[in-house]
Amino acid sequence: MDRPEEKCAVWGVHGEGMEAARLAYFGLYALQHRGQAGAGISTVDGEEFHDFKGMGLVREVFSEEIIEGLPGSMAIGHNRYPTRGTPTIDHVQPVVRPRVRGVHNGNLPLTDKLEAFLIEHEIPVGDNNDSEMMTAAVNYYVERGATLGEAVIDATPLFTGAYAAVFMAEGEIAAVRDGRGIRPLSIGRLNGGVIFSSETCALDLIGASDEGDVAPGEMVVVNEQGLVRYQIQEGRQMLDAFEYVYFARPDSMLLGQEVNETRRRAGKRLAQEHPVNADIVVPVPDSSIPAALGYAQEAGIRFDQGLIKNRYIGRTFIDPDPHQRKRNVAMKLNPLPRSLRGKRVVLVDDSIVRLTTAGPLVQLMRNAGAVEVHLRIASPEVKYPNFYGIDTADQQSLAAARMSVEEMREATGATSLGFLSLKGLVDSIGVDQGNLDTSCFTGEYPIDIGRRREGVIFNI
Ligand code: AMP
Repeated sequence: MDRPEEKCAVWGVHGEGMEAARLAYFGLYALQHRGQAGAGISTVDGEEFHDFKGMGLVREVFSEEIIEGLPGSMAIGHNRYPTRGTPTIDHVQPVVRPRVRGVHNGNLPLTDKLEAFLIEHEIPVGDNNDSEMMTAAVNYYVERGATLGEAVIDATPLFTGAYAAVFMAEGEIAAVRDGRGIRPLSIGRLNGGVIFSSETCALDLIGASDEGDVAPGEMVVVNEQGLVRYQIQEGRQMLDAFEYVYFARPDSMLLGQEVNETRRRAGKRLAQEHPVNADIVVPVPDSSIPAALGYAQEAGIRFDQGLIKNRYIGRTFIDPDPHQRKRNVAMKLNPLPRSLRGKRVVLVDDSIVRLTTAGPLVQLMRNAGAVEVHLRIASPEVKYPNFYGIDTADQQSLAAARMSVEEMREATGATSLGFLSLKGLVDSIGVDQGNLDTSCFTGEYPIDIGRRREGVIFNI
């Protein structure tokens, strides 16, 4: 079954006397970049659950009145980023099951075991996605008398794939990460309460301290007695390198590295690997600004804005229609002819995935008078689909899987094109390659993708 895959934000809070829903609101606000299609918050007050979710941005979904209608000192929240099919309210999280609520960032490429388990126990699967089935499995054990922690321990062997998830039941919250820690999940503390957040930037925003990560393969349970950590499966850190390239906010810390710094180093390295004589370095705002600054600094070429972004247009990446995506690019970014006219430009972007953005941008810059446009990409070629929660599951849609660098250059109309090497990226991140998931560049998948390997062409 074709199920939606997601790159999302998860959030959880447990703290006596805390206005959990309001904290969740602020947290989700800070994590908006991880998903703009829908948002939801669930709280539990004594035995009673309260849920609210809707389509759109956090500030569109929630009002003061709605937040006040979500009482309790425990909450979980989610920002959704649907990457397949038409977004509908149906799959907006938290997932609601009778005794449990759940939020999930990641993707399970294989759900056979999970489905078989649910069917065996006569739990309807319907068009449930992976997150919904995961929560249903946890709920099954809670309904049979397990504590939330016990239920998560029993259910996780059914989860094959990437998950940073937070579950909530009466009196308890449990955060859990897959054995490779593909998607991030941080722990924070505020006034004696405990917070879980996809990224540290949301901890900063509410004034919580950063207490490190939920470790790969670990479950962290918080209840009235406090916080207890359990290593429930063998863990080895392999964080998705694309978190550094694109997903995470620059002000987040991932594995001890500030994302902004890693991007700036990637830009510097790119300048060393692909130098060029040019007049200005221009970023594709906003995600590639740190890389462009690094490039300009290293190359000794002036940094300039050449493109102005309309900040009120959603991300263009998810629009399923390629023509609409191209139009969106033009609506979103407008060139500055006075900066570009007669100039040899280095245009820096963080990545090329399907090659919908770069071509129209090069054209925009040329139309605005740039005489040369040297495209520089602060990550290696994305040749392999991502099965762990990013919208690149179809290899045929990946430009670098079908085309050589020269063919991509020609397709964009750029004067030259250079990608950062894998070593360059890993060095810039500052984390051992063995602790990173680089599968979208290498085709080496750290978590079994089973029969989905059959659809992948390797050794490109
Ligand atoms: P593409 O145009 O398909 O080659 O995608 C690359 C552009 O989209 C770059 O400008 C990136 O900043 C951005 N991008 C990369 N990955 C994603 C993603 N998963 N979701 C949204 N935008 C992305």
